[in-house]
Amino acid sequence: MDKATLALLVGGRSERMGQDKGLLPVRGKPLVLRQISRLKPLFQNILIICSSLEQKKQYEKLSEYRVICDDSGNDHAAYYGLICALKNSPTQKVVVLPVDAIGVDVALLKKLLSSHPFPAAYDGTPFPSVWLKEHLHHWTADERSILNLLKELSFTELKSTACEDKLLKVNLNTPEDVRAYFGEPVQDAWGRQLNYLRLSITENCNMACRYCLPQGFPGWESAKALLSFEGISNILQAFRSLGFEKVRFTGGEPSLHPNLLPAITEARSLGYETISLTTNGSYIRNCSSLVEAGLTHINISLDTIHERTFFKITGNKHFSKVLALIDQALELKMNVRINTVVLRTQNFHEISDLLEWAKQRPLTLRFIELMPTNLHQAYFKENWVSNEEVQRMARSLGYEPSSKLDGLEPAGPALLYDHPQSPCRLGFISPLSCNFCSRCNRLRVTAQGKLRLCLFSENDLALPLQESPEVLAKTIRALLVEKQEGHILAQGHMGNVAHFRGIGG
Ligand code: SAM
Repeated sequence: MDKATLALLVGGRSERMGQDKGLLPVRGKPLVLRQISRLKPLFQNILIICSSLEQKKQYEKLSEYRVICDDSGNDHAAYYGLICALKNSPTQKVVVLPVDAIGVDVALLKKLLSSHPFPAAYDGTPFPSVWLKEHLHHWTADERSILNLLKELSFTELKSTACEDKLLKVNLNTPEDVRAYFGEPVQDAWGRQLNYLRLSITENCNMACRYCLPQGFPGWESAKALLSFEGISNILQAFRSLGFEKVRFTGGEPSLHPNLLPAITEARSLGYETISLTTNGSYIRNCSSLVEAGLTHINISLDTIHERTFFKITGNKHFSKVLALIDQALELKMNVRINTVVLRTQNFHEISDLLEWAKQRPLTLRFIELMPTNLHQAYFKENWVSNEEVQRMARSLGYEPSSKLDGLEPAGPALLYDHPQSPCRLGFISPLSCNFCSRCNRLRVTAQGKLRLCLFSENDLALPLQESPEVLAKTIRALLVEKQEGHILAQGHMGNVAHFRGIGG
């Protein structure tokens, strides 16, 4: 995609909000910075367009981005904000967006930026719209609106889908709008803010990984061990109203669920910022339809780069399909993470081959220490490898502990390593040798529709899925008090985990 500048208009009057909207703190982060962090992967430049020198000073204090004051004297008029953006943009293409258009996401903007010719906008609405610097020639000092200018220039009009339409219509005019959109956040009894839902949508799986489900899931082609779409939608709505911003669809194998695509769309239209999928990658043919539906991140499980070992570990013959999916996801410029479980007797001797393969690719290769489950305690004893051993191997190849954060999970469990000459990043998740409970921000719902407060809980808690999202949210809030400070896996307590197929890992 060509270079483009994002011009965020912050000069609105914000009268009903009672304060400058862009500066409004939402969970400690001003709205303008939230917008920027969501959308910046698409842009080479960001401009903040404000309408007074006083405002300019405030925004300059807040961020390192360029703040420009629209000095046309027509304060608050978006039309003049657009002109100011076109005058100052360092790139030919400029996207104009008000700071409170928080429903506008990367997927909507990508579509708009790849339309032709410009200017372009959705359904006759002025925002978001894409312009070229040459449109400045059409500027006149008359009082005009962006919509009129779009029409005068015979703009490209994109039709939004129902989900996109909902996102385009989000308007944050009052504090109530903000609460309704971002939800009422929850904390557990230990003061941890929870905002990440891991939703196992099916127990069904087409693989038989030795460390998870060695006997496989007999009859998986016709099995119905899954959450209904209504159940999924209810859960997504309830968690969103509790301020959850991230959801991961997992399983079993979530791509076997016939409603995976609608579930992703539903999450997107509810405003989840991060929508990710953990998959074994063997059953997904078309990654782009998942991205179009709203998927932002994908984790693909791959324990080896050798076909024979792959078959030995997973009992599955679709090794080449998994590799093809990884390439497809990288071509789509997705955030790709590979999950690898290191196993002493199965893949440990060839981990350097996997590291070599990953070194050429812009992805994160994450080593997850084998976790014990009730089903395979002997296998665990035989195969557990401390991540410290793998870290030593990584350091000998030139990887160094990273000072940067994980974009998806800044406070997440992975310890990161980077290499000065490689686009590949390594992540180490070490539940046994290095417990990360103090930073826990997640809740799980199992494919049985039950709440699981910790991966290694002793039991799952019933949820009233047939009730309204409001009742469901209230129940979840009440059950939260039972969330423990941490698991005691290292002392051998693995809760009621027989395997991870219904929990999702
Ligand atoms: N089927 C999907 C997949 O293969 O990615 C999603 C479900 S799977 C249970 C989620 C993750 O859990 C996978 O990355 C898998 O490697 C990991 N996993 C399963 N059992 C595990 C175990 N005993 N120890 C560590 N990781 C495990």
